[in-house]
Amino acid sequence: MAQVSTVGRSEALFERAKDLMPGGVNSPVRAFKAVGGTPLYFSRAKGAYLFDEDGNRYIDFVSSWGAIIHGHADDSVNAAIANAASNGTSFGAPHRGEVLLAEAILARCAAVEMIRFVNSGTEATMSAIRLARAATGRTKIVKFEGNYHGASDGLLAKAGSGVATFALPDSAGVPASTAQETIVVTYNDPAALAEAFAAHPNLIAAVLVEPASGNMGLVPPSSGFLQSTAELCRKNGALLIFDEVMTGFRVAAGGAAELYGITPDLLCYGKVIGGGLPVGAYAGRKDIMTMVAPVGPVYQAGTLSGNPLAMAAGLSAVSRLDAGSYTTLETLGARLQSGLQQALGKAGVVQRVGSMISVFFTDGPVATFEEANRTDRALFGKLFHFLLGRGIYLPPSALESWFLTLSHTEEDIDVTIDAFADGLKAVA
Ligand SMILES: *Cc1c(COP(=O)(O)O)cnc(C)c1O
Repeated sequence: MAQVSTVGRSEALFERAKDLMPGGVNSPVRAFKAVGGTPLYFSRAKGAYLFDEDGNRYIDFVSSWGAIIHGHADDSVNAAIANAASNGTSFGAPHRGEVLLAEAILARCAAVEMIRFVNSGTEATMSAIRLARAATGRTKIVKFEGNYHGASDGLLAKAGSGVATFALPDSAGVPASTAQETIVVTYNDPAALAEAFAAHPNLIAAVLVEPASGNMGLVPPSSGFLQSTAELCRKNGALLIFDEVMTGFRVAAGGAAELYGITPDLLCYGKVIGGGLPVGAYAGRKDIMTMVAPVGPVYQAGTLSGNPLAMAAGLSAVSRLDAGSYTTLETLGARLQSGLQQALGKAGVVQRVGSMISVFFTDGPVATFEEANRTDRALFGKLFHFLLGRGIYLPPSALESWFLTLSHTEEDIDVTIDAFADGLKAVA
């Protein structure tokens, strides 16, 4: 059984980092604020394992927040990156790799007729919204409470004082006037969405949704929710945008659109399509995508967009995912889910879509952000540190999904289940 001893080198690096970067990190959740303690510094990763600066090994359930699907330092992805690098890291001009990755994505996702690559999921959703506004001549956007779409101003909005009202900024520095263009409604609640459309007739450009929500823990769409959302969009002349930054190429070859049988107008990608390098994309109907510059009037650009290394890594990752990959991920996911649920008994609920999974310490299933928020964060924090000590790295927050890769083994899963059961007894 792996037992973590000292993490002195991580502590020393974090001490230096705190004076150099806000909170010592370049993305807030990494700082361990939600669970306490000192973040680990990793020096390398291979397959399903992370190795910290002191040489301790961890089974990784963050998987770079879902970006890693074949496992860390995958030989094929690495070979693709090395080959691309040997031919030049950036041209600032078109190249073959963009065409190949675009073709690979179009071949797998029926809703994607055209695609534009960007550098992150944030850029993808931001650009898709600009495009939706241009295509509809409307300005308002609907998002669902607990869904995350990156860190752009208009999407850092939280629910106001009533359903169907304008949103409030969810971050300092976001103008109220920007947040007011966003309407935040309850996830899995078609009546709330209908109410928003009724309250703002002919003003809503698009509804943006995580088709399976992975950013408040894992909350699957309730039966009929996505169908109702699509129907309400169609009836009210708004575009439906699937944010598949997390679900794309993870829950099925054709993403959540395929899994749930919905054809959105636009889709956003990130994470898996970069094979661990920074990539995002927005995509969808050709008649809409041709509104993007230089063909159409919607401006959007990027110095490093379509970067050769990133395209090569993405192509290697995406093109090797087949039906068997999703069967493997499903089998591993089901094993983890049933083991964790058995350990929990009535003390919590394990929710899962394929290789995305999370535990809620609640007395029933979770369908909304309000319900997710009832999870016992203190208990999660204690379990997190117990598992860390046993060489298991969970996302450092109670409201994040865990991600499996094709490198995780049944043994990794069983070790994790045993440690989780021990942890529950130890911290209860
Ligand atoms: C991660 C994520 C984003 C943001 O992507 P970044 O690459 O971090 O900017 C957007 N939407 C969803 C659903 C995500 O999971």
